[in-house]
Amino acid sequence: MSLSVAPAMQPNSSPLALLMAAVRPEHRGDVLVPEAGHPLVDHGRCRVPGCPGVATASRGLCVAHADRWYRARRRGAAFESWLQDCPPRCTPQACLVPKCRYGRHRSQLCHRHHTDWTAAAAADSAAVWAAAVKAKPDDQPGCEVPGCDLWASFSDGFCVSHQGRFNAFRRRTGTDDRESFLAAVALAGVPRLNLAGLAPLLKLEVQFVVQCFLADGPRRVNLSRWNTVVRALHAHSATSLLDRTAADWTALLQLRQGNPDGALFINWGHDQVDHLVHGTGWDREYPLDTWTLNRVGHAATGVAHISFASVAQPWLRELVKQWTRHRLSIGIASPGVRTAVGVLGLFSAHLNSLRRPPRGVGDVTRSMVQTWCEDLALDHPEPRSRTRLVTVLSTFLRDAHRYGWAPDLPSTTVVFSEDFPRLNGTGTRAGPPRDCGRPDRVGGSTGPAHPP
Ligand SMILES: [Zn+2]
Ligand SMILES: [Zn+2]
Ligand SMILES: [Zn+2]
Repeated sequence: MSLSVAPAMQPNSSPLALLMAAVRPEHRGDVLVPEAGHPLVDHGRCRVPGCPGVATASRGLCVAHADRWYRARRRGAAFESWLQDCPPRCTPQACLVPKCRYGRHRSQLCHRHHTDWTAAAAADSAAVWAAAVKAKPDDQPGCEVPGCDLWASFSDGFCVSHQGRFNAFRRRTGTDDRESFLAAVALAGVPRLNLAGLAPLLKLEVQFVVQCFLADGPRRVNLSRWNTVVRALHAHSATSLLDRTAADWTALLQLRQGNPDGALFINWGHDQVDHLVHGTGWDREYPLDTWTLNRVGHAATGVAHISFASVAQPWLRELVKQWTRHRLSIGIASPGVRTAVGVLGLFSAHLNSLRRPPRGVGDVTRSMVQTWCEDLALDHPEPRSRTRLVTVLSTFLRDAHRYGWAPDLPSTTVVFSEDFPRLNGTGTRAGPPRDCGRPDRVGGSTGPAHPP
């Protein structure tokens, strides 16, 4: 994943100013419609021949045809033959009575003809009865949705089907605006994102996320899934994606289970906005309890994050951070660096389990180190794995002394060669491996990895 380049701005610019500068005019609308055929959002046409819908549902179908297929499958239909026989367009159908262009209400008849058929109490089916009815030849005002050739059944100027869709649109958006509805109908099936009603800052953030995604998104998504998230953010009265962490949003909106595209919007999008607003580099990353390595120039190392959460004591955590940054800077591979932080998390837990836990780095004694090394055998009976753990603490303490990071740390607080487990059958101790995770030997020392 790469991050979009932030525009040059004054330091301390407000998030709003940063976003205003970053979002280009073509991404500023309330309804964002990516260019047709964009590989990251366009799923191609529905497989039903002649259907203009977009294949966002399963089996390469549009949502409407997928719905029809599910019902046909329950009746025992086979997919390939169903596909050939399926009507290409999901357009509203007219009443069965010849020359009646009102939309169907029940039994494939319009409301008036259904009433007449029911009143006639005819023994014939609706189809047989309808064939014999002489409809009035007079023409009626047509439905106002472009392309619909039915008559308008309601005072809003829509046929039965489109009135139903207009009612649903009104419930969903809370607006009676017919022009907005007609615009939405015109875009039906076209991938788009509707930002109407979002708080101004959040709207700019979503526009920025879409702009970044279309330029450099990690994979193809179904934008209707993003619409679901945007509406959920609106329903929670969100003012900014940065109101919460990406993990909190994902949990609150329950995105993991049914909406992986929505989860991608939150996680990837949050990262884009966060990067724009807060920038990158050690100044930003160092104080955090989880470092994102691509923000500090260690993107291509196979480890995305290093968390210091397991190191409970703030004073120890600071020291571990300092050591970790140093190790990254001298070229130690990030998987090993992360593992070492985890080992110091074990040491941290050991310190907290003592009857009198240390309250600062000056309280950490040689005997605490020794008891940790001894207790390791309980959970790590295999000497070689224990050796790796002891080596981490040894190197950590050695570096803390050598670089003067913790002047209060007693000079006797070190790992001795006796702390390393004996290797089975040899009678010798493992001792720190020669590489110790270090690319070079500072000061040319070849002895045990700890100061006197
Ligand atoms: Zn279709
Ligand atoms: Zn009719
Ligand atoms: Zn219509």
